[in-house]
Amino acid sequence: MIEIIPILKTFYFSIVLNGYLLTSSNFENLNKNLYVYVKDKEDIKVLRGGDMIMYPYKLPELTYSYDALEPYIDKETMEIHYTKHHGAYVNNLNSALEKYPYLQNYCLVSLLTNLNALPSDIRDSVRNNGGGHLNHSLWWEILKPNGSKEPVGELAKLINETFGSFNNFKEQLNKAALSRFGSGWAWLVLDKFGKLHVISTPNQDSPYMDGFIPLMGVDVWEHAYYLKYQNKRADYLNAVWNVLNWDVIEQKYQEAKQKLNQLVKTS
Ligand code: MN
Repeated sequence: MIEIIPILKTFYFSIVLNGYLLTSSNFENLNKNLYVYVKDKEDIKVLRGGDMIMYPYKLPELTYSYDALEPYIDKETMEIHYTKHHGAYVNNLNSALEKYPYLQNYCLVSLLTNLNALPSDIRDSVRNNGGGHLNHSLWWEILKPNGSKEPVGELAKLINETFGSFNNFKEQLNKAALSRFGSGWAWLVLDKFGKLHVISTPNQDSPYMDGFIPLMGVDVWEHAYYLKYQNKRADYLNAVWNVLNWDVIEQKYQEAKQKLNQLVKTS
């Protein structure tokens, strides 16, 4: 699946993919969509944004102030987390890719799902800082002041079907987050067959590295909660449920479903 576009690159002047003629001009767009099967120009629009982030990387804009998630997540943690921790991931990722211009044309998900193909001197840096950038970009997006408390839309239904109830899902996610030793994340992800799972990843590893599309996640690095909650990770986890933006998470689910429909079924 991932190798599709590099293979096409050699032939891109005249290839017909399911009715859509790839030419040198529209290949510029396709180049950013390395792991999807593009059927028509509309698909390209759909695939922009979200995880299609490319070099040079920059901090995404926060749509709320540092103190907006109080009392659940405190202002000081938000400011340091966003400017210093996420800021450092972005800077380090850009530095790693500076000397490899050919990699600057690939989206971050493609880099993270092809780590072994990267030059060995930047592999760990892309894994840690690239994963950090991707994970935190999702994190700020799924939070909001006065969170919506419960899932909405189709995702709400699927969560109930998969886990039995929203409360069961919360328990599973909290358990995954609590039992993650050291630093990492707990996630709600979609697999390539359209099924939901709760998983956990160490450090800044992205669910994409295991073939999943992340819909929501909880940062359980100590930098995400230590100033307010110290060693009480469970208290922090309970607080997070009050500031989630389930509209955005439902939107992530819809986008992920669209991506799945565009994947080559045989890959
Ligand atoms: Mn973090």
